[in-house]
Amino acid sequence: MAGEPQDDCLFCKVVSGTIPATIVRETGTTVAFRDINPQAPTHVLVIPKAHYRDAAALAAAAPELAADVLRETRAVAEEEKLESYRTVFNTGAGAGQTVWHAHAHVLGGRGLHWPPG
Ligand code: 5GP
Ligand code: ZN
Repeated sequence: MAGEPQDDCLFCKVVSGTIPATIVRETGTTVAFRDINPQAPTHVLVIPKAHYRDAAALAAAAPELAADVLRETRAVAEEEKLESYRTVFNTGAGAGQTVWHAHAHVLGGRGLHWPPG
């Protein structure tokens, strides 16, 4: 069922604590933790605790939860004292998505070029 934890999902395991992560924020509906392979001085992932395969599925099925994720990206940026930052949802393999549990990347702490690759 949509939103239910998936046994084979890495980020569901972060939510359940089965896989350790450096958690920076947690709310009733979201978790924010440091990316294991940071691409910037600050690189935090914000995920809904519920499982949706990508940002499109999340937005379609649970827009209020998508808003929770967006609100948390801002909270992370504030805690990390980022004046400028980028919020990225890679959606689909062609866009670089490798983990199939919706997540926002919050990147900052260095100059960020636009457009990205
Ligand atoms: P995607 O490529 O799907 O947009 O982003 C997945 C992100 O998850 C990558 O930036 C990758 O470094 C990160 N990642 C993959 N496995 C782990 C893990 O076990 N722990 C943490 N903290 N991040 C991970
Ligand atoms: Zn999941």
